[in-house]
Amino acid sequence: MPTLVMKFGGTSVANLDRIRRAAKRVGVEVAKGYDVIVIVSAMAGKTNELVGWVNETSPLFDAREYDAVVSSGENVTAGLMALTLQEMDIPARSWQGWQVPLMTNSAHSQARIEDIPPHNINQKFAEGMKVAVVAGFQGVSPEGRITTLGRGGSDTTAVAFAAAFGAERCDIYTDVDGVYTTDPRICSKARKLEKISFEEMLELASLGAKVLQTRSVELAMRYKVKLRVLSSFEEQTDEAGTLVVDEEEIMESNVVSGVAYSRDEAKMTVVSVQDRPGVAATIFTALSDGGVNVDMIVQNVSEEGITDMTFSCPTDQVARAEKAMNAVRDAGHLEFESLIVDYDVCKVSVVGIGMRSQSGVAAKMFKILSDEGINIKVITTSEIKISVLIDRKYMELAVQALHDAFELDKAA
Ligand code: ADP
Ligand code: ASP
Ligand code: MG
Repeated sequence: MPTLVMKFGGTSVANLDRIRRAAKRVGVEVAKGYDVIVIVSAMAGKTNELVGWVNETSPLFDAREYDAVVSSGENVTAGLMALTLQEMDIPARSWQGWQVPLMTNSAHSQARIEDIPPHNINQKFAEGMKVAVVAGFQGVSPEGRITTLGRGGSDTTAVAFAAAFGAERCDIYTDVDGVYTTDPRICSKARKLEKISFEEMLELASLGAKVLQTRSVELAMRYKVKLRVLSSFEEQTDEAGTLVVDEEEIMESNVVSGVAYSRDEAKMTVVSVQDRPGVAATIFTALSDGGVNVDMIVQNVSEEGITDMTFSCPTDQVARAEKAMNAVRDAGHLEFESLIVDYDVCKVSVVGIGMRSQSGVAAKMFKILSDEGINIKVITTSEIKISVLIDRKYMELAVQALHDAFELDKAA
């Protein structure tokens, strides 16, 4: 039997009615003759609530216990989805990560998938089960503890299953009807894309477009999984949604094809460190060991051998960053005067494979922002993207102005 993977995000399983609606969609594919693997997220808002409880209980939590708590949301929806399908006379069974088993490494709260042995689920398919409902976002470490795959990780579960089972396609059902030129919730002129390249989707995702988790796009690219994003709220055709495809399949490409933003960024400056070999290594090793995901980095011009080091990281990692910096100072490995934290920043980025061959995009981006009176605090670039850190209050304005100026509302 051909296999299909269908993933339903939080809003698509937010209550029993929505679970029934999603189950009906699954029924349509079962009727076409597919063995279906359904990956479910927790009900909308549930994971946030669980993360909130963990933070309130223990701000610098033990990530093993964080995983024990936050993985639980998906267990509920997996069981409910299996029951709903059974009520529709579709043979279905639920699976938690450890039961599959979905094997990961031990990087709790950010674990990476290492293996998905298919035989347990395949055996059930051979016995007549039509739908395997798998709790997304979770796995099991070599030590036998529950792990989670980072926020938005059910997308990655879905793509990994599609690769492991050689699925014909991996359909990601969500609350928008595809991938847009930017988040349609903050820019009304955002345009739905029929296709997007893996490379661009990877950049958009890693720069904050949460419609797909970055790792899911990486896996789809590596294992050539046919990946589609579509709405669980509309009647679907075989052509619905957005397909993520190889670059060669895109005929025309704009220089800029999307704008992404990441709201919850913080900027930290380590004031007055010595400008000598080894200082950056000390700072960033301590941050990495402390579990801080550093994003942008700038080192100021030094004066009399003293400089400032500025970096950005997610706001919820600032406490860890401060702890790591104070610890290296207390241990005598680093001297600095103070730490300055700016919580009110965000990152806005433009992405496009056309940037490889066309210059001037950065200049245009900076001009657009300056025309809006937006000051740029940090800049980073790569082959196909330019990112800036700006005050958070300008986030929507910056996204809309860039979307307009790069004419993303018009088809290529
Ligand atoms: P799910 O719960 O289904 O996984 P998510 O909330 O994780 O859904 O992702 C879908 C959301 O991603 C949309 O509601 C939208 O606000 C946001 N989003 C951000 N950027 C984009 C984009 N370029 N295209 C589509 N949606 C986007
Ligand atoms: N429930 C998890 C989250 O909210 C995983 C997911 O939905 O993809 O991050
Ligand atoms: Mg998601």
